[in-house]
Amino acid sequence: MRGIREAFPILHQSVNGKPLVYLDNAATTQKPRAVIDALVHYYERDNSNVHRGLHALSMRATDGYEGARARVARFIGAADPCEILFTRGTTESVNLVAQTWGRANLRPGDVVLATEMEHHGNLVPWQELARASGATLRLVPLLGENGEGGLDLAALDSLLTPQVKLFAFTHVSNTLGTINPAAQLCAKARAVGALTLVDAAQSAGHQPIDVQAMGCDFLAISGHKMCGPTGIGALYGRRELLEKLVPYETGGGMVATVSYDGATWKPTPERFEAGTPNIAGAIGLAAACDYLDSVGREHIAAHCHELGRIAYERLSELPGIRLLGPAAGAERSGIVSFALADVHAHDVVTFADEDGLALRGGHHCNQPLMHKLGLTSTTRASFALYNTAGEIDTLVASLRRIQKFFAGQ
Ligand code: PMP
Repeated sequence: MRGIREAFPILHQSVNGKPLVYLDNAATTQKPRAVIDALVHYYERDNSNVHRGLHALSMRATDGYEGARARVARFIGAADPCEILFTRGTTESVNLVAQTWGRANLRPGDVVLATEMEHHGNLVPWQELARASGATLRLVPLLGENGEGGLDLAALDSLLTPQVKLFAFTHVSNTLGTINPAAQLCAKARAVGALTLVDAAQSAGHQPIDVQAMGCDFLAISGHKMCGPTGIGALYGRRELLEKLVPYETGGGMVATVSYDGATWKPTPERFEAGTPNIAGAIGLAAACDYLDSVGREHIAAHCHELGRIAYERLSELPGIRLLGPAAGAERSGIVSFALADVHAHDVVTFADEDGLALRGGHHCNQPLMHKLGLTSTTRASFALYNTAGEIDTLVASLRRIQKFFAGQ
């Protein structure tokens, strides 16, 4: 897409004497000038604490912060800004639901359903919640020896019993590149009375999201994976659900009245945001929403899916490669994971770095999934709006060089 790379200052550098090819976007995306400028502007002109001040800077900071909440609401199609809670990111958003809704509502005999492709951030909180509450965690199985078949929807139907109180699933797998049919999964869960939590860490920055059309009850996002700053993210929750929840973090900012004997809480969203929030982060996240929408998320989605498709096809030409996730021709995101026979993923990433490539090697916070697929690690190339098909040429050439080197050992 034209004019995009110019907006990202970090991309215009050399690494090890080669032009940087940044293909580690599933870990974190780069930031456009507009987001960097929004942060600088905030700290240079508006920095102040929110909600508690009557002076000009405090009012500007409050307007910026609350404006950011409304912007994020609009970005994901929420009906009301009070349905957006600012968090540190997807992990904290999931933990918030587990610690508030989960602790209040789960009993022995209840079931939380997740899937075999969950990131640790949408798995471990449910394991811990199940341990603490006596509820059971069940997982929807994944089909195919390389996970190419996606979630087993027939198995899902039999797992979705009235005992299921929550179905938590990822929208896009950070390892396989699978795009789950979120609206369909939410509808199935709703039919048995279960709530849904969608982990949108890997989708929010790359494709349009509309929580009302999707029909989810909770949705979690991370700012840093959608061209925004680190340390900021959001939890969307349907208003009537959030209003019933008791906060798990207490302190300043979230209280209506306090006496030496106790306290009462402000309405949602404030009562879930104890202490001074990440004001600059929220403002930077709103700038990221503006930027992504100025490019157009439909365009970004089409571009990233096309790069994922090309990468999958080109990589499948390499000898001894094992590619994970949806097969050639199937719909996939811009995330492609693979294992090279006889070369450890850490060696691939280290050698590729010599060619200026930023890849990721490891279990990608998907240890049980790796185990299921009989792997300990993979190499992952993940694309964003600023990547080009020419960078896939660099990737393939680098991998050929690596294979040649290791074949000679
Ligand atoms: N879920 C998925 C699918 C992810 O890819 C990630 C980040 N790798 C997370 C959750 C956790 O996000 P964060 O580290 O920003 O909390």
